[in-house]
Amino acid sequence: MFSRDYNQHWLATGAPEPFSEDEALRLAQESPPGDLALARLLFAPGFGTGGELDSILLARSEQVKAALFHRTVQAVVPVYVSSICNEDCLYCNYRSGNQGAAVRRLRLNDEELRQEAQFLIQEKGFHCLELVYASDPAMRGAAMCRQVELVRNLLERSGGGAVGLSAQALEEHEYRSLLDAGLSFSVLWQETYDRTRYQQLHPGRGPKASFEYRLEAYERMLAAGLRDIGIGVLTGLSPWKRDWAMLIRHEAWLRQHCGHSATILGIPRLKPAPGALVHSTPFLPSNQEFLATVALHNLLFPEVRPFVSTRESFEMCVQLARGGGCLFTFNCTTIPGGYTLHNPGYQFPSGSYDAPVYSRKLAEAGLATDWNWAWYEEKLYGHSLVPAS
Ligand code: SF4
Repeated sequence: MFSRDYNQHWLATGAPEPFSEDEALRLAQESPPGDLALARLLFAPGFGTGGELDSILLARSEQVKAALFHRTVQAVVPVYVSSICNEDCLYCNYRSGNQGAAVRRLRLNDEELRQEAQFLIQEKGFHCLELVYASDPAMRGAAMCRQVELVRNLLERSGGGAVGLSAQALEEHEYRSLLDAGLSFSVLWQETYDRTRYQQLHPGRGPKASFEYRLEAYERMLAAGLRDIGIGVLTGLSPWKRDWAMLIRHEAWLRQHCGHSATILGIPRLKPAPGALVHSTPFLPSNQEFLATVALHNLLFPEVRPFVSTRESFEMCVQLARGGGCLFTFNCTTIPGGYTLHNPGYQFPSGSYDAPVYSRKLAEAGLATDWNWAWYEEKLYGHSLVPAS
């Protein structure tokens, strides 16, 4: 388990080897994609400053992505199902300790979920829906399976697609049942790899309060047979270079010990949320630092798709998507029933870039949109996840 090797990796990332600017430029130019030595560049002089090192990384990142994904992004849309939460993450509007007027506790019933999903499929053209749950104690395995099946069936009646999950860390048997129900991908952000900081920020009553339980969830997903899994940190919670250095080590560890690793990279940056106790920190990277970091990750793991979200401006999303090979969010609300029930409120501030309009803008920037990436599911799993009828 990675949790057993955690201390050794944590110590290693605390003392990065010093190296010169010339050495950094040589490494950036000459190391082949996938070479883990590239991870050292996070701590290189000039990294994230908009200089020569960044230019090399951004250009090479675009090149490797374009070669693999042909300047195409995969459209995905979040569907919030619940804002009822047992946890108390200090940076979140939905934390259980928030009793303020800015939060509404809602849980969609199946009919409401059907309505939201139908709208996104039929009116907006999405074929990949990500079901998002807070840590709602009433929404675990069986209830989630029913909803995954419901959305999967709607998609199958409209030409197919993929269903994803963003929820609390689950048990292996729950992930297996979800896969059987037609789940294509599961994302879970570790938030931060700094254990002390993690514990301060997550004082809730549920499983998220356990740093180790969350850290081991990726192994449980893989053991259950899921192959499209997302990993990442909420950048800005802790010193970001160390968080990303640990993230890279975790991904490499999964590949070495589990035979598979993450295929999706979460790239949320901390945003001030109403009802949060932590709104900002001194640990937020600038746009340039963030772009350089994602580009470096693209070089390290070219096949892993960053999950570009509307936490960022549309211009920033386009920059992050250069070369393609990422998940891309257009329409977005972060309240259950935000699309068709017109429920007000949100988990954190985000944009919403209406798909028919903004996919054209994306095309003007040289990026095509893949609306139905069920083919990707077949590539990863070796077969369709739709049970033969
Ligand atoms: S981040 Fe997720 S688990 Fe934590 S309080 Fe917010 S909704 Fe709940």
